[in-house]
Amino acid sequence: MTRSLFAADALLPSGWEKNVLLSWNEAGQLTQVQAVARPPAGVQVAQGPVIPGMPNLHSHAFQRAFAGLTEHRAAQQDSFWSWRTLMYRFAARLGPQQMEAVATWLYAEMLEAGYTSVCEFQYLHHDADGRPYADDAALSLALLRAAQKAGIGFTLLPVLYQTSGFGAKPPSPGQRRFLHSTESMLRLLDALRPVCDAQGARLGLAPHSLRAVPPDALRDALAGLDALDATAPIHIHIAEQTQEVDDCIAWSGQRPVAWLLDHAPVDARWCLVHATHMDAHEYRRAAARGAVAGLCPTTEANLGDGIFDFTAWRGHGGAWGLGSDSHACVNAAEELLMLEYGQRLATRQRNVGADAAQPQVATALTLAAVRGGALAAGRAIGGLAPGQQADFVVLDAAHLALQGLAAPDMLSAHVFASHRTSAVDAVWVAGQPRVAAGRHALHQPAAAGFVAARRQLLEE
Ligand SMILES: [Zn+2]
Repeated sequence: MTRSLFAADALLPSGWEKNVLLSWNEAGQLTQVQAVARPPAGVQVAQGPVIPGMPNLHSHAFQRAFAGLTEHRAAQQDSFWSWRTLMYRFAARLGPQQMEAVATWLYAEMLEAGYTSVCEFQYLHHDADGRPYADDAALSLALLRAAQKAGIGFTLLPVLYQTSGFGAKPPSPGQRRFLHSTESMLRLLDALRPVCDAQGARLGLAPHSLRAVPPDALRDALAGLDALDATAPIHIHIAEQTQEVDDCIAWSGQRPVAWLLDHAPVDARWCLVHATHMDAHEYRRAAARGAVAGLCPTTEANLGDGIFDFTAWRGHGGAWGLGSDSHACVNAAEELLMLEYGQRLATRQRNVGADAAQPQVATALTLAAVRGGALAAGRAIGGLAPGQQADFVVLDAAHLALQGLAAPDMLSAHVFASHRTSAVDAVWVAGQPRVAAGRHALHQPAAAGFVAARRQLLEE
Protein backbone atom coordinates (compact mmCIF):
# COMPACT_ATOMS: atom_id res chain seq x y z
CA MET A 1 0.00 0.00 0.00
CA THR A 2 1.28 3.50 -0.87
CA ARG A 3 2.35 5.43 2.18
CA SER A 4 4.43 8.14 0.62
CA LEU A 5 4.33 10.67 -2.18
CA PHE A 6 7.03 12.83 -3.71
CA ALA A 7 6.10 16.35 -4.79
CA ALA A 8 8.28 18.67 -6.83
CA ASP A 9 6.40 21.49 -5.05
CA ALA A 10 4.36 21.33 -1.84
CA LEU A 11 2.66 24.01 0.25
CA LEU A 12 3.78 23.47 3.87
CA PRO A 13 2.53 25.59 6.79
CA SER A 14 5.65 27.76 6.40
CA GLY A 15 5.17 28.23 2.65
CA TRP A 16 6.18 26.57 -0.62
CA GLU A 17 9.00 24.00 -0.57
CA LYS A 18 10.65 22.08 -3.40
CA ASN A 19 11.27 18.31 -3.63
CA VAL A 20 9.17 17.27 -0.66
CA LEU A 21 8.65 13.69 0.43
CA LEU A 22 5.40 13.12 2.32
CA SER A 23 5.19 9.89 4.35
CA TRP A 24 2.39 8.66 6.57
CA ASN A 25 1.56 5.72 8.81
CA GLU A 26 -1.15 3.08 8.65
CA ALA A 27 -3.55 5.41 10.47
CA GLY A 28 -3.14 8.03 7.73
CA GLN A 29 -1.15 10.44 9.89
CA LEU A 30 1.83 12.22 8.37
CA THR A 31 5.08 10.97 9.92
CA GLN A 32 7.54 12.84 7.73
CA VAL A 33 7.41 15.97 5.56
CA GLN A 34 10.84 16.84 4.34
CA ALA A 35 12.83 18.17 1.46
CA VAL A 36 14.96 15.46 -0.18
CA ALA A 37 17.60 15.58 -2.86
CA ARG A 38 15.75 13.18 -5.15
CA PRO A 39 12.69 10.91 -4.92
CA PRO A 40 13.46 7.47 -3.43
CA ALA A 41 13.24 4.63 -5.95
CA GLY A 42 9.70 3.43 -6.61
CA VAL A 43 7.92 6.26 -4.76
CA GLN A 44 4.78 7.71 -6.31
CA VAL A 45 5.34 11.15 -7.83
CA ALA A 46 2.62 13.83 -7.76
CA GLN A 47 1.48 15.18 -11.15
CA GLY A 48 1.62 18.77 -9.95
CA PRO A 49 1.90 20.93 -6.84
CA VAL A 50 0.54 19.48 -3.61
CA ILE A 51 -1.57 21.71 -1.36
CA PRO A 52 -3.22 20.88 1.97
CA GLY A 53 -6.80 19.59 1.78
CA MET A 54 -9.32 22.30 2.64
CA PRO A 55 -11.56 21.68 5.66
CA ASN A 56 -15.15 22.72 4.97
CA LEU A 57 -16.32 24.08 8.31
CA HIS A 58 -20.01 24.61 7.62
CA SER A 59 -22.47 22.40 5.73
CA HIS A 60 -26.20 21.68 5.70
CA ALA A 61 -25.99 18.73 3.31
CA PHE A 62 -29.68 18.47 2.38
CA GLN A 63 -29.66 22.02 1.02
CA ARG A 64 -27.58 20.85 -1.96
CA ALA A 65 -30.79 19.27 -3.31
CA PHE A 66 -32.38 22.66 -3.91
CA ALA A 67 -29.37 24.72 -4.89
CA GLY A 68 -30.40 26.83 -7.88
CA LEU A 69 -34.11 26.43 -7.14
CA THR A 70 -34.62 29.61 -5.13
CA GLU A 71 -33.27 32.07 -7.68
CA HIS A 72 -36.62 33.57 -8.70
CA ARG A 73 -38.49 36.51 -7.21
CA ALA A 74 -41.25 35.37 -4.83
CA ALA A 75 -41.87 38.57 -2.89
CA GLN A 76 -41.57 42.28 -3.56
CA GLN A 77 -38.22 42.15 -1.85
CA ASP A 78 -36.69 38.70 -1.36
CA SER A 79 -34.32 38.15 1.55
CA PHE A 80 -32.75 35.50 3.71
CA TRP A 81 -36.14 35.12 5.39
CA SER A 82 -38.12 34.43 2.19
CA TRP A 83 -35.37 31.98 1.17
CA ARG A 84 -35.77 30.27 4.55
CA THR A 85 -39.50 29.75 3.93
CA LEU A 86 -38.69 27.88 0.70
CA MET A 87 -35.94 25.92 2.46
CA TYR A 88 -38.36 24.80 5.21
CA ARG A 89 -40.86 23.63 2.59
CA PHE A 90 -38.18 21.56 0.95
CA ALA A 91 -36.79 20.19 4.21
CA ALA A 92 -40.25 19.00 5.23
CA ARG A 93 -40.16 16.21 2.63
CA LEU A 94 -36.72 14.76 3.23
CA GLY A 95 -36.24 11.31 4.84
CA PRO A 96 -33.14 9.35 5.87
CA GLN A 97 -32.70 7.62 2.48
CA GLN A 98 -32.85 10.89 0.58
CA MET A 99 -30.55 12.52 3.10
CA GLU A 100 -27.99 9.77 2.57
CA ALA A 101 -28.24 9.97 -1.23
CA VAL A 102 -27.93 13.76 -1.33
CA ALA A 103 -25.04 13.80 1.15
CA THR A 104 -23.12 10.98 -0.55
CA TRP A 105 -23.09 12.93 -3.81
CA LEU A 106 -22.37 16.21 -2.05
CA TYR A 107 -19.37 14.74 -0.22
CA ALA A 108 -18.04 13.20 -3.44
CA GLU A 109 -18.44 16.63 -5.08
CA MET A 110 -16.62 18.27 -2.18
CA LEU A 111 -13.70 15.88 -2.54
CA GLU A 112 -13.50 16.52 -6.28
CA ALA A 113 -13.48 20.25 -5.49
CA GLY A 114 -10.60 20.18 -3.02
CA TYR A 115 -12.32 19.75 0.35
CA THR A 116 -11.05 16.82 2.40
CA SER A 117 -13.30 17.14 5.44
CA VAL A 118 -16.60 18.68 6.43
CA CYS A 119 -18.37 19.91 9.57
CA GLU A 120 -22.03 19.01 9.26
CA PHE A 121 -24.36 21.42 11.12
CA GLN A 122 -27.18 18.91 11.34
CA TYR A 123 -30.55 20.25 12.39
CA LEU A 124 -33.04 17.93 10.70
CA HIS A 125 -33.72 15.34 13.40
CA HIS A 126 -37.34 14.13 13.24
CA ASP A 127 -39.88 12.94 10.68
CA ALA A 128 -42.07 15.27 8.63
CA ASP A 129 -44.62 15.52 11.48
CA GLY A 130 -41.97 16.31 14.04
CA ARG A 131 -42.05 12.84 15.63
CA PRO A 132 -38.72 11.21 16.49
CA TYR A 133 -37.76 8.35 14.18
CA ALA A 134 -37.68 4.86 15.75
CA ASP A 135 -33.97 5.55 16.05
CA ASP A 136 -33.73 9.16 17.18
CA ALA A 137 -30.34 9.44 15.42
CA ALA A 138 -31.65 8.25 12.01
CA LEU A 139 -30.81 11.38 10.00
CA SER A 140 -27.43 11.91 11.68
CA LEU A 141 -26.57 8.27 11.00
CA ALA A 142 -27.51 8.77 7.34
CA LEU A 143 -24.92 11.58 7.17
CA LEU A 144 -22.27 9.48 8.90
CA ARG A 145 -22.84 6.67 6.38
CA ALA A 146 -22.59 9.14 3.49
CA ALA A 147 -19.30 10.51 4.84
CA GLN A 148 -17.90 7.03 5.25
CA LYS A 149 -18.91 5.97 1.73
CA ALA A 150 -17.42 9.08 0.16
CA GLY A 151 -14.34 8.88 2.37
CA ILE A 152 -14.42 12.48 3.58
CA GLY A 153 -13.21 13.52 7.04
CA PHE A 154 -16.17 14.31 9.28
CA THR A 155 -17.22 16.43 12.24
CA LEU A 156 -20.84 15.92 13.21
CA LEU A 157 -22.55 18.81 14.98
CA PRO A 158 -26.09 17.89 16.02
CA VAL A 159 -28.06 21.12 16.33
CA LEU A 160 -29.96 22.22 19.40
CA TYR A 161 -33.05 24.18 18.32
CA GLN A 162 -35.86 25.12 20.70
CA THR A 163 -37.42 28.50 19.92
CA SER A 164 -38.33 30.65 16.92
CA GLY A 165 -37.00 33.93 18.29
CA PHE A 166 -35.36 35.79 21.15
CA GLY A 167 -37.29 35.67 24.44
CA ALA A 168 -38.22 31.98 24.03
CA LYS A 169 -40.78 32.49 21.24
CA PRO A 170 -42.54 29.17 20.54
CA PRO A 171 -41.26 27.30 17.47
CA SER A 172 -43.25 27.45 14.24
CA PRO A 173 -44.71 24.32 12.56
CA GLY A 174 -41.95 24.53 9.95
CA GLN A 175 -39.40 24.05 12.72
CA ARG A 176 -40.90 20.91 14.32
CA ARG A 177 -38.34 18.60 12.68
CA PHE A 178 -35.50 20.50 14.39
CA LEU A 179 -36.62 20.44 18.02
CA HIS A 180 -34.88 18.77 20.94
CA SER A 181 -35.06 19.32 24.66
CA THR A 182 -31.64 19.77 26.20
CA GLU A 183 -31.94 16.31 27.81
CA SER A 184 -32.90 14.54 24.58
CA MET A 185 -30.04 16.31 22.76
CA LEU A 186 -27.55 15.05 25.34
CA ARG A 187 -28.96 11.53 24.95
CA LEU A 188 -28.54 11.86 21.17
CA LEU A 189 -24.90 12.91 21.61
CA ASP A 190 -24.35 9.93 23.91
CA ALA A 191 -25.78 7.58 21.29
CA LEU A 192 -23.74 9.10 18.44
CA ARG A 193 -20.41 9.16 20.26
CA PRO A 194 -19.43 5.49 19.72
CA VAL A 195 -20.49 5.60 16.06
CA CYS A 196 -18.37 8.69 15.45
CA ASP A 197 -15.41 7.20 17.31
CA ALA A 198 -15.62 4.00 15.27
CA GLN A 199 -15.24 5.84 11.95
CA GLY A 200 -12.77 8.49 13.09
CA ALA A 201 -15.35 11.27 13.01
CA ARG A 202 -15.44 14.05 15.61
CA LEU A 203 -18.63 14.81 17.52
CA GLY A 204 -19.47 18.31 18.72
CA LEU A 205 -22.56 20.41 19.32
CA ALA A 206 -24.21 23.28 17.50
CA PRO A 207 -26.53 25.50 19.51
CA HIS A 208 -28.31 26.78 16.38
CA SER A 209 -28.34 30.50 17.22
CA LEU A 210 -29.25 32.80 20.08
CA ARG A 211 -32.73 33.12 18.57
CA ALA A 212 -33.22 29.31 18.72
CA VAL A 213 -31.58 28.49 22.08
CA PRO A 214 -32.58 30.33 25.29
CA PRO A 215 -29.80 31.15 27.80
CA ASP A 216 -30.63 28.36 30.31
CA ALA A 217 -30.67 25.73 27.59
CA LEU A 218 -27.36 27.02 26.21
CA ARG A 219 -25.73 26.79 29.63
CA ASP A 220 -27.09 23.30 30.37
CA ALA A 221 -26.23 21.94 26.92
CA LEU A 222 -22.65 23.19 27.17
CA ALA A 223 -22.28 21.63 30.62
CA GLY A 224 -23.61 18.34 29.25
CA LEU A 225 -21.25 18.48 26.27
CA ASP A 226 -18.29 19.14 28.56
CA ALA A 227 -19.19 16.07 30.64
CA LEU A 228 -19.07 14.02 27.43
CA ASP A 229 -15.97 15.62 25.89
CA ALA A 230 -14.48 18.80 27.33
CA THR A 231 -12.65 19.59 24.08
CA ALA A 232 -15.51 18.95 21.62
CA PRO A 233 -16.09 21.68 19.02
CA ILE A 234 -19.02 24.10 19.43
CA HIS A 235 -20.50 25.91 16.43
CA ILE A 236 -23.22 28.57 16.40
CA HIS A 237 -24.87 30.76 13.75
CA ILE A 238 -24.39 34.32 14.96
CA ALA A 239 -25.18 37.77 13.57
CA GLU A 240 -25.89 36.61 10.00
CA GLN A 241 -28.70 39.09 9.50
CA THR A 242 -29.20 42.69 10.58
CA GLN A 243 -32.75 41.83 11.70
CA GLU A 244 -31.24 39.23 14.04
CA VAL A 245 -28.95 41.92 15.49
CA ASP A 246 -31.89 44.32 15.99
CA ASP A 247 -34.00 41.58 17.63
CA CYS A 248 -31.14 40.64 19.95
CA ILE A 249 -30.67 44.26 21.03
CA ALA A 250 -34.43 44.60 21.65
CA TRP A 251 -34.32 41.44 23.80
CA SER A 252 -31.08 41.92 25.73
CA GLY A 253 -29.74 45.39 25.06
CA GLN A 254 -26.70 43.77 23.43
CA ARG A 255 -25.64 42.74 19.96
CA PRO A 256 -25.49 38.91 19.48
CA VAL A 257 -21.71 38.46 19.49
CA ALA A 258 -21.31 40.77 22.50
CA TRP A 259 -24.03 38.86 24.35
CA LEU A 260 -22.41 35.53 23.55
CA LEU A 261 -18.96 36.68 24.67
CA ASP A 262 -20.43 37.89 27.97
CA HIS A 263 -22.55 34.81 28.67
CA ALA A 264 -20.68 31.81 27.23
CA PRO A 265 -17.10 30.51 27.62
CA VAL A 266 -16.20 31.33 24.02
CA ASP A 267 -12.66 30.21 23.14
CA ALA A 268 -10.84 28.32 20.38
CA ARG A 269 -13.38 25.45 20.60
CA TRP A 270 -15.97 27.83 19.19
CA CYS A 271 -16.77 28.51 15.56
CA LEU A 272 -18.85 31.66 15.03
CA VAL A 273 -20.61 30.99 11.73
CA HIS A 274 -21.56 34.08 9.71
CA ALA A 275 -20.36 36.57 12.33
CA THR A 276 -21.09 39.06 9.56
CA HIS A 277 -22.52 41.90 11.59
CA MET A 278 -20.11 42.79 14.39
CA ASP A 279 -19.11 46.23 15.63
CA ALA A 280 -15.46 47.19 16.21
CA HIS A 281 -15.52 45.95 19.83
CA GLU A 282 -16.99 42.61 18.83
CA TYR A 283 -14.30 42.07 16.16
CA ARG A 284 -11.60 42.78 18.72
CA ARG A 285 -13.09 40.77 21.58
CA ALA A 286 -14.12 37.69 19.55
CA ALA A 287 -10.70 37.47 17.89
CA ALA A 288 -8.94 37.83 21.26
CA ARG A 289 -10.94 34.89 22.65
CA GLY A 290 -9.54 32.66 19.89
CA ALA A 291 -12.90 31.88 18.26
CA VAL A 292 -12.83 30.81 14.61
CA ALA A 293 -14.89 32.94 12.23
CA GLY A 294 -16.83 30.61 9.92
CA LEU A 295 -16.99 32.43 6.58
CA CYS A 296 -19.28 31.12 3.84
CA PRO A 297 -18.63 33.63 1.04
CA THR A 298 -20.80 32.23 -1.77
CA THR A 299 -23.76 31.47 0.49
CA GLU A 300 -23.50 34.84 2.21
CA ALA A 301 -23.50 36.46 -1.23
CA ASN A 302 -26.36 34.27 -2.42
CA LEU A 303 -28.49 35.18 0.61
CA GLY A 304 -27.59 38.86 0.58
CA ASP A 305 -26.21 38.71 4.13
CA GLY A 306 -23.60 41.46 3.93
CA ILE A 307 -19.81 41.47 3.96
CA PHE A 308 -17.59 40.40 6.85
CA ASP A 309 -14.84 42.89 7.74
CA PHE A 310 -11.96 40.56 6.94
CA THR A 311 -9.33 43.27 7.33
CA ALA A 312 -10.51 44.13 10.86
CA TRP A 313 -10.65 40.44 11.86
CA ARG A 314 -7.17 39.67 10.57
CA GLY A 315 -5.86 42.88 12.10
CA HIS A 316 -6.78 41.37 15.48
CA GLY A 317 -5.14 38.06 14.55
CA GLY A 318 -8.53 36.31 14.24
CA ALA A 319 -8.69 32.70 13.05
CA TRP A 320 -11.07 31.89 10.20
CA GLY A 321 -12.08 29.11 7.83
CA LEU A 322 -14.42 28.40 4.94
CA GLY A 323 -17.82 26.75 4.72
CA SER A 324 -20.02 25.99 1.73
CA ASP A 325 -23.14 26.16 3.93
CA SER A 326 -26.16 26.08 1.56
CA HIS A 327 -24.02 24.62 -1.26
CA ALA A 328 -25.05 27.14 -3.88
CA CYS A 329 -21.40 26.51 -4.80
CA VAL A 330 -19.29 23.46 -3.91
CA ASN A 331 -15.72 24.45 -4.71
CA ALA A 332 -12.97 25.43 -2.26
CA ALA A 333 -11.17 27.59 -4.83
CA GLU A 334 -14.34 29.52 -5.69
CA GLU A 335 -14.98 30.28 -2.01
CA LEU A 336 -11.49 31.79 -1.79
CA LEU A 337 -12.15 33.80 -4.94
CA MET A 338 -15.50 35.07 -3.62
CA LEU A 339 -13.96 35.98 -0.27
CA GLU A 340 -11.19 37.98 -1.92
CA TYR A 341 -13.48 39.64 -4.49
CA GLY A 342 -16.04 40.64 -1.83
CA GLN A 343 -13.26 42.35 0.08
CA ARG A 344 -11.92 44.05 -3.05
CA LEU A 345 -15.38 45.43 -3.84
CA ALA A 346 -15.89 46.60 -0.28
CA THR A 347 -12.45 48.20 0.17
CA ARG A 348 -11.70 49.26 -3.43
CA GLN A 349 -8.28 47.63 -3.10
CA ARG A 350 -6.60 44.61 -4.66
CA ASN A 351 -4.84 41.61 -3.06
CA VAL A 352 -6.56 42.11 0.27
CA GLY A 353 -5.90 38.49 1.32
CA ALA A 354 -2.11 38.80 1.08
CA ASP A 355 -0.25 39.40 4.32
CA ALA A 356 3.18 40.47 5.51
CA ALA A 357 4.50 36.91 5.50
CA GLN A 358 2.90 35.86 2.22
CA PRO A 359 2.38 38.25 -0.71
CA GLN A 360 0.62 35.57 -2.82
CA VAL A 361 -3.11 35.95 -2.12
CA ALA A 362 -4.16 32.38 -2.93
CA THR A 363 -1.30 30.92 -0.88
CA ALA A 364 -1.95 33.18 2.13
CA LEU A 365 -5.71 32.51 2.09
CA THR A 366 -5.28 28.75 1.65
CA LEU A 367 -2.88 28.40 4.59
CA ALA A 368 -5.04 30.51 6.90
CA ALA A 369 -8.28 28.75 5.94
CA VAL A 370 -6.71 25.33 6.52
CA ARG A 371 -5.44 26.38 9.98
CA GLY A 372 -8.77 27.83 11.06
CA GLY A 373 -10.81 25.05 9.47
CA ALA A 374 -8.83 22.43 11.40
CA LEU A 375 -9.51 24.25 14.68
CA ALA A 376 -13.23 24.40 13.91
CA ALA A 377 -13.32 20.72 12.96
CA GLY A 378 -11.56 19.68 16.17
CA ARG A 379 -9.38 17.32 14.13
CA ALA A 380 -5.66 17.11 13.26
CA ILE A 381 -6.10 18.37 9.70
CA GLY A 382 -4.09 21.58 9.92
CA GLY A 383 -1.80 21.13 6.91
CA LEU A 384 1.20 19.23 5.62
CA ALA A 385 3.16 18.65 8.85
CA PRO A 386 4.06 15.59 10.93
CA GLY A 387 1.25 14.62 13.28
CA GLN A 388 -1.43 16.03 10.98
CA GLN A 389 -3.59 13.77 8.86
CA ALA A 390 -2.40 13.09 5.30
CA ASP A 391 -5.18 15.16 3.66
CA PHE A 392 -3.97 16.81 0.49
CA VAL A 393 -4.83 17.88 -3.04
CA VAL A 394 -2.65 17.50 -6.12
CA LEU A 395 -3.20 20.17 -8.74
CA ASP A 396 -3.01 19.26 -12.43
CA ALA A 397 0.16 20.88 -13.74
CA ALA A 398 -1.05 20.08 -17.28
CA HIS A 399 -4.28 22.12 -16.90
CA LEU A 400 -4.22 24.93 -19.44
CA ALA A 401 -4.46 27.63 -16.77
CA LEU A 402 -1.49 26.18 -14.86
CA GLN A 403 0.87 24.88 -17.55
CA GLY A 404 4.43 26.17 -17.39
CA LEU A 405 3.90 28.29 -14.27
CA ALA A 406 5.83 28.27 -10.99
CA ALA A 407 3.98 26.53 -8.13
CA PRO A 408 2.70 29.66 -6.29
CA ASP A 409 1.34 30.97 -9.60
CA MET A 410 -0.27 27.61 -10.28
CA LEU A 411 -2.26 27.93 -7.05
CA SER A 412 -3.16 31.52 -8.00
CA ALA A 413 -4.31 30.33 -11.41
CA HIS A 414 -6.30 27.51 -9.78
CA VAL A 415 -8.15 30.04 -7.60
CA PHE A 416 -8.40 33.02 -9.94
CA ALA A 417 -8.10 31.75 -13.51
CA SER A 418 -9.13 28.11 -13.96
CA HIS A 419 -12.78 29.16 -14.21
CA ARG A 420 -15.28 26.33 -14.33
CA THR A 421 -12.88 23.58 -15.32
CA SER A 422 -11.23 22.30 -12.20
CA ALA A 423 -7.48 21.99 -11.92
CA VAL A 424 -7.82 19.42 -9.11
CA ASP A 425 -6.13 16.20 -10.21
CA ALA A 426 -6.00 13.94 -7.14
CA VAL A 427 -7.32 14.16 -3.59
CA TRP A 428 -6.13 12.09 -0.66
CA VAL A 429 -7.79 11.78 2.74
CA ALA A 430 -5.93 10.14 5.64
CA GLY A 431 -3.41 8.81 3.12
CA GLN A 432 -6.09 7.16 0.96
CA PRO A 433 -6.71 8.22 -2.65
CA ARG A 434 -10.32 9.45 -2.97
CA VAL A 435 -10.17 11.33 -6.27
CA ALA A 436 -8.00 10.38 -9.25
CA ALA A 437 -7.81 12.27 -12.55
CA GLY A 438 -10.40 14.68 -11.15
CA ARG A 439 -13.02 11.99 -10.48
CA HIS A 440 -14.28 10.40 -7.30
CA ALA A 441 -14.61 6.61 -7.51
CA LEU A 442 -18.34 6.89 -6.70
CA HIS A 443 -18.98 9.78 -9.10
CA GLN A 444 -21.48 7.99 -11.37
CA PRO A 445 -23.59 6.06 -8.84
CA ALA A 446 -23.59 8.90 -6.32
CA ALA A 447 -24.70 11.40 -8.97
CA ALA A 448 -27.50 9.07 -10.09
CA GLY A 449 -28.62 8.64 -6.46
CA PHE A 450 -28.69 12.40 -5.98
CA VAL A 451 -30.76 13.04 -9.11
CA ALA A 452 -33.26 10.34 -8.11
CA ALA A 453 -33.58 11.75 -4.58
CA ARG A 454 -34.07 15.30 -5.86
CA ARG A 455 -36.73 14.11 -8.29
CA GLN A 456 -38.64 12.49 -5.41
CA LEU A 457 -38.36 15.64 -3.33
CA LEU A 458 -39.71 17.79 -6.15
CA GLU A 459 -42.51 15.40 -7.13
CA GLU A 460 -44.10 14.78 -3.73
ZN1 LIG B 1 -25.72 27.53 8.27
